[in-house]
Amino acid sequence: MNTLLPTSTAGSLPKPTWLAEPETLWSPWKLQGAQLAEGKQDALRLALQEQQHAGIDIVSDGEQTRQHFVTTFIEHLSGVDFQQRQTVRIRDRYDASVPSVVGAVARQAPVFVDDARFLRQQTAQPIKWALPGPMTMIDTLYDSHYKSREKLAWEFARLLNQEALELEAAGVDIIQFDEPAFNVFFDEVNDWGVAALERAVQGLKCETAVHICYGYGIKANTDWKQTLGAQWRQYEQVFPTLQQSSIDIISLECHNAHVPMELLELIRGKKVMVGAIDVANPAIETPEAVADTLRKALQFVDADKLYPCTNCGMAPLPRAVASGKLKALSAGAAIVRQELTANAG
Ligand SMILES: [Zn+2]
Repeated sequence: MNTLLPTSTAGSLPKPTWLAEPETLWSPWKLQGAQLAEGKQDALRLALQEQQHAGIDIVSDGEQTRQHFVTTFIEHLSGVDFQQRQTVRIRDRYDASVPSVVGAVARQAPVFVDDARFLRQQTAQPIKWALPGPMTMIDTLYDSHYKSREKLAWEFARLLNQEALELEAAGVDIIQFDEPAFNVFFDEVNDWGVAALERAVQGLKCETAVHICYGYGIKANTDWKQTLGAQWRQYEQVFPTLQQSSIDIISLECHNAHVPMELLELIRGKKVMVGAIDVANPAIETPEAVADTLRKALQFVDADKLYPCTNCGMAPLPRAVASGKLKALSAGAAIVRQELTANAG
């Protein structure tokens, strides 16, 4: 990236009301068949334009073509039965009815590659594409086949790698893996979670990122955050392993979070996508508040490695709020960019 402090979002943006029910996770599609396919492409174009108007530097599809950041990828795999559902506890936090792994998992066809190619045709800007991480995938399933979280994670890492290599060939500049589970299962992260993630990026020449957050602004997550105390030190458990890993960029929740900023010192040397927009609060940040978070992060992240970002996806937010937050992110980054340039001159 030639731009100093290039802005991006963690991934998802609200969908238009004609495509899916607003402010709802796992919202069913309102269109079908060929109309749905066309509607998804139109929504992707709108999400792109929204980012461009706000001045976002690294753009994404806003996850307009998927119902959910984890389940949509899983739906395209064989070996998973969506009729055979079981209730499991997701990220040790809330119960959900999830599909079952009933046989060897395989990726029969590309999942997002056509969508990525479509986005690539629409813009010359750098593009980032999000995929679920292996550990977060296994945490959103019931496994009656492998009967080992680790074994299943390695299988998913292999399939994610196939998809990632094709996304790269389609022109994606940064491939991001969403691993909110890294904030919960520390022993597994250090034993095999990061290693499985490295398997997923094997052979990629484009940049790679891992997004670790405290989740969407849904009740189960905000309730959980209440139990975490005054200082959220979860990142401390996994940062040393990530610092040693082959992943290029680490995407984190920082703004309004109780994460002590000095933890960023543990990943010194990595590029950091610093969450400067709170997705759990509908109030739109002022550019000055965004700038303030970025300045704090600059104490621990070199300026050429700091990527202003959102704390998490904005899918569950009202569209006007998400739009306002994109503009605030851009304006806040511009303030700090100017300060840095003035200091350098
Ligand atoms: Zn997130």
